[in-house]
Amino acid sequence: MDWPAIRERAFGRIDPLHERAAAHRRSQGIDVFLGEARFVAPKVLKVRADEISAERFVLAADSRPSIPPIDGLAQVPYLTSDTVMRLDRLPKSMVVLGCGYIAAEMSHIFGSPGTKVTIVARGEEFLSRHDTDIRARFTKCYQERSDVRLGATVTRAVKTRTGVRLDLVTPSGAQAEGEVLLVAAGRVPNSDRLNVAAAAIDTDAHGHVRTDNTYQTNVPGIWALGDLANHFQLKHMANAETRLVLHNLLHPGQPRRAAFTVVPSAVFADPQVASVGATEQELQAHGRPYVCATRSYCDAAYGWALEDTTSFVKVLADSATGLLLGAHILGPQTSTLIQPLVQAMCLGNTADQLASGVLYSPGAHRGGGAGPARPLNQHPVPGCCSAHITEEAPAMKPDATVVHTGARCPPWSRPGEAVRLFGRGVTVRSSLPVAAVVGCVLSAINEGPRISGGHAGWLTWAQVGLNFVVPFLVASYGYLTAARVPGGTSGAATAR
Ligand SMILES: Cc1cc2nc3c(=O)[nH]c(=O)nc-3n(C[C@H](O)[C@H](O)[C@H](O)COP(=O)(O)OP(=O)(O)OC[C@H]3O[C@@H](n4cnc5c(N)ncnc54)[C@H](O)[C@@H]3O)c2cc1C
Repeated sequence: MDWPAIRERAFGRIDPLHERAAAHRRSQGIDVFLGEARFVAPKVLKVRADEISAERFVLAADSRPSIPPIDGLAQVPYLTSDTVMRLDRLPKSMVVLGCGYIAAEMSHIFGSPGTKVTIVARGEEFLSRHDTDIRARFTKCYQERSDVRLGATVTRAVKTRTGVRLDLVTPSGAQAEGEVLLVAAGRVPNSDRLNVAAAAIDTDAHGHVRTDNTYQTNVPGIWALGDLANHFQLKHMANAETRLVLHNLLHPGQPRRAAFTVVPSAVFADPQVASVGATEQELQAHGRPYVCATRSYCDAAYGWALEDTTSFVKVLADSATGLLLGAHILGPQTSTLIQPLVQAMCLGNTADQLASGVLYSPGAHRGGGAGPARPLNQHPVPGCCSAHITEEAPAMKPDATVVHTGARCPPWSRPGEAVRLFGRGVTVRSSLPVAAVVGCVLSAINEGPRISGGHAGWLTWAQVGLNFVVPFLVASYGYLTAARVPGGTSGAATAR
């Protein structure tokens, strides 16, 4: 792999942007001061030799990598997410300290082309803010691929002849050694460097600048946004906040208030993860009644073709209304697959509406090889229960309970278990996102080398087949899943 070429391709574009951005703003009559800014008094900011005062300020000073207080760390060379991508060459080995999204992404970036990655972290699982099922599956995937030392206490960092060594207290090995060390142990807001205390601006326990829901700080005329003020650490969140603050600066009499209830996020690792809304543990903690459905990619044709054994879609919905409360996906193309669910949440669609209206909706379904579908109100009956969970169930009452009885129940249900359903009983069609994956992959295939000449006609038809016919066939394997209530009790339910 030509690492210098990759690095050059990225930074060859990024680096000139800064200069162009400053020049562009100056050309629009904006004064640009380059350098680290610090408040020296209320509404007085110092940048190098310049002191800037103004009626109104907008603070967007980001966060920076957090460096944990480890004995010897200050004396060894280490990298952070700010510097690691600028390495001159691909290192032979790398110790990554941390198990959040940056640690996961960087481990993937360097591990894939051949760097031997050892991941060391205090936590017991990767991606601590994610749904428990995502964390568990993601952690397992990483453990199978890399040397992962979780639950570790790092006692010392030591510079060695060939690189860096971490001394550890851990169940899985006492030392981790690599040519380079990447510290990816969280981020801290830059409020301290900005010296917001000198401007009497309040911060929370983590150092984030406190704001009200119009993004104004406790000091009238000073707004704050982005990683400096929120805990999301997401670019699209900072962008949305920027638009809101812009409005509030221009229309002080009609301020807009933050109403960002649906905030999606993605982890660009392998496997990829995308999430929106509540996790299952958050719903449990708030005592919110919900139903949950989880389906594997390998339950549909494209997953079989991939021989996928890890990817899945998990959807949480309000058990009374069917409104989506959260969605968590692990596998290929998840950052794209999440989008229809994000939109459904923004628009207040129910799971049932989403399954039947918003997306392409195949009528066919499979039920473990069972015969023709029967209305839900015929439960319990011998045979495969999933075959009866269909849209052809107008008599089905919301929250009705049915019992799996037969030997032909699908793998995720066990005979004797109760299934609770909302609406017409259809909670998720996992083939829809999987069909979308197929569409994405096929589009990607079609963006490959263009071929012209005598074969062009055939290729056009092949493209039609790849783009439309194959996804249609895949989508026609519509799987219908239902939320399962262990033991037939009411309340939160989980389907696996
Ligand atoms: C490795 C990595 C990967 C990420 N991946 C994603 C992703 O995939 N998707 C996503 O949504 N988000 C991602 N993020 C997070 C995203 O980059 C941030 O949430 C977002 O950039 C925050 O925007 P902001 O407006 O707060 O700050 P930014 O606009 O990013 O930066 C603020 C600027 O202020 C400058 N500054 C800071 N302090 C001072 C000071 N005292 N004086 C003068 N200037 C100062 C900084 O140098 C910086 O140029 C990633 C972050 C990292 C580190």
